[in-house]
Amino acid sequence: MDEDDLGELDELDDSSFEEAEQKAFIKDLDRTDSFGWMNEKRYSNMFSKIEKGLQGVLGKGQFEWVDSRVFDQVFDRLTLMSLYKLMTQGHLDTLDFPIARGKEAHVFHGTSDNGPVAVKIFHTSNAVFKNLMKYIEGDQRFGGLSRRHRKLVDIWVRKEYRNLLRLAKWGLRVPEPIAVHKNVLVMEYIGDAVSPAPRLRDAKVENPEEVFDYLIHFTATAWQKANLVHGDLSAYNILWHEGKAVVIDVGQGVVQSHPKSEEFLVRDVKQLVRWANQNGIDVELAEALYDVLEMNLDEEE
Ligand code: ADP
Ligand code: MN
Repeated sequence: MDEDDLGELDELDDSSFEEAEQKAFIKDLDRTDSFGWMNEKRYSNMFSKIEKGLQGVLGKGQFEWVDSRVFDQVFDRLTLMSLYKLMTQGHLDTLDFPIARGKEAHVFHGTSDNGPVAVKIFHTSNAVFKNLMKYIEGDQRFGGLSRRHRKLVDIWVRKEYRNLLRLAKWGLRVPEPIAVHKNVLVMEYIGDAVSPAPRLRDAKVENPEEVFDYLIHFTATAWQKANLVHGDLSAYNILWHEGKAVVIDVGQGVVQSHPKSEEFLVRDVKQLVRWANQNGIDVELAEALYDVLEMNLDEEE
């Protein structure tokens, strides 16, 4: 099979995967409603089982600075159930403190048996739904919106998980995805014991030329090999860790066949070139774009 065939198969997998996901999720909702498993007793049982792991975010542990509003905003019942699931599956032991709070998600430091993890929890409030609706068209007049919206968030999170997998498969530096459940994504923690890695935007980089070359190489490999364009690649979504760039926040990444993929690609490269120019590198967009599209990557496989 040549490269094109592989690409097509991949896309097919994508859409059928998403369809299956949707079906499973709706089925799950129906089942859960009819079984009424969210009755208080079970809920409190579950909660007591995971409470120890949540000491940090409950503000009971050593992290006194935690804002209790974070808890109300992020940890609704279904999110707690996702954490419960991830904990019983062994992907997560403790959830400690927030690393970053964004409009659409909170990212937490956590631990598992294998060491520290980063846990990205997508908000499921109405504001987030509205944001996601910018990307996915829907008819507001139909009922059951909140479920439908929740489902969209879950699909979005799963997309980030799979995009991470796909990029990692090609040896690109991204956090290794570990597990995903509903609106919660567990991935490799990028940082040290003291603090998470800074964003490239906030980092002092001694070798910008080398970093730029890597990022162009990253974009070329993602486009040519992984059939993926990041879509929001800027110094805000790149972490600076142990002298190297690690790309994050890949949820909006799309395959080449997406109607906007080329627009996204140009925008991504533009952002990289802007960063390069700010760091004293003399490079132009056309040149960088040419490299991304024409770079010969065949010897690296
Ligand atoms: P958002 O959609 O809110 O921009 P990001 O995926 O960019 O979400 O994550 C927000 C912030 O969380 C990042 O800027 C970074 O500081 C931190 N972060 C995200 N993923 C990780 C990770 N794997 N390890 C350490 N910090 C992370
Ligand atoms: Mn981001």
